[in-house]
Amino acid sequence: MKAVLVINSGSSSIKYRFFELETYSVIATGFVEKIGEAESRLKHGWLNKENKHEEIVETKVVPDHRQGFDWIVDVNVRTSLGEKRDLFGIGHRVVHGGEVFREPTLIDDRVIRAIKEMIPLAPLHNPANLTAIEVARERRPDVPQVAVFDTAFHQTMPPRAFHYALPQALYTEHQVRRYGFHGTSHDYVSKKAAEHLDRPLDTLNLITLHLGNGASATAVREGKSIDTSMGMTPMEGLVMGTRCGDIDPAIHFYVGRAAGMSNEELETMLNKESGLKGICGVNDMREIIQLAGSGDEHAQLAIDVYCYRIRKYIGAYFAVLGQVDALVFTGGIGENAALIRKLCCEDLDCLGITLDNQKNEASSGEVSEIQEDKNLVRILVIPTDEELEIAKQTCELILRGN
Ligand code: ADP
Repeated sequence: MKAVLVINSGSSSIKYRFFELETYSVIATGFVEKIGEAESRLKHGWLNKENKHEEIVETKVVPDHRQGFDWIVDVNVRTSLGEKRDLFGIGHRVVHGGEVFREPTLIDDRVIRAIKEMIPLAPLHNPANLTAIEVARERRPDVPQVAVFDTAFHQTMPPRAFHYALPQALYTEHQVRRYGFHGTSHDYVSKKAAEHLDRPLDTLNLITLHLGNGASATAVREGKSIDTSMGMTPMEGLVMGTRCGDIDPAIHFYVGRAAGMSNEELETMLNKESGLKGICGVNDMREIIQLAGSGDEHAQLAIDVYCYRIRKYIGAYFAVLGQVDALVFTGGIGENAALIRKLCCEDLDCLGITLDNQKNEASSGEVSEIQEDKNLVRILVIPTDEELEIAKQTCELILRGN
């Protein structure tokens, strides 16, 4: 059997999924976490010969990603029941591709150098992605490897959408511009929407909302991203679990002076202590909905601010697109939180966005339509699958042979 391995590597974790090449069915999936800590943990799930799901959890000392990768290969061999699985390709999620990478790219030394050069733009993510790429190339030099960039889908944004109103030198000398993220997810759900609506993607205008721990909205014209809410970093735009989204940049200087905070402290606060958590002390939407239901005012305020910001972006992207075929909800919150979907669509009847409460409540797990009437803007709930999209893009590129 030929398999494709997709790797999403963080600074202390490696998430992975093995797909069967022909059908893209999932053969095995799991993660190694706490790499470099006193004890690391692996969770591995796979389909056995009877097509039943099995799962194991193991712990051991794993000092670095190299040994983490070996552990994944080893557990995969142990649970493959003697069946030989040839790796056809390895797809790596890479967060920042700057302006260099507009498409998935076969990894060679030149590509690695370019990803390294982009570390200042994504200092937390790109080094972790690179480590996994280097380890996987070292361990399996015989297998073609592909980098799939979170930013690539948004490289079709026109200059008026990606430029900040800042001195040009910041762009020309320091690459300060809007890049956008979650591209693989926005790309995947756009294709799924086209499939569901049975229309060619290049005839569709969409507003896609990826609402997970991070959150972003994208305006998709004729299948291509023309604007997105995240900017130079994933901090801009919508309210997120712990990130602030859009704020007045002058807050930075004011708080620095008023509260005596350093730049590093401000960065941590805006990334890790703001968003939903900043407003109500909790970043998990399930918990926030429960708290609000039991009368917690801050939790209610967090929901109100969260959904109000999304409605503003829907309005803005409606203006940008002129005509919208479908609004798409995805990500942990977008797929599962009926209440949030309802509040995001509230009072948008003037735009042809009217949600059907019953359909909204009933939506679960599958692609579903939740608008009142087929003549209105379709409102779709589409489970995202970034790993599957990376696997497909990896295989397509390898098969094309460039
Ligand atoms: P990540 O961006 O880390 O991949 P997810 O896409 O899994 O995150 O989204 C995580 C968010 O989804 C959390 O805020 C979680 O509370 C929320 N979520 C998951 N299931 C539900 C649910 N049934 N109702 C409300 N929120 C949910």
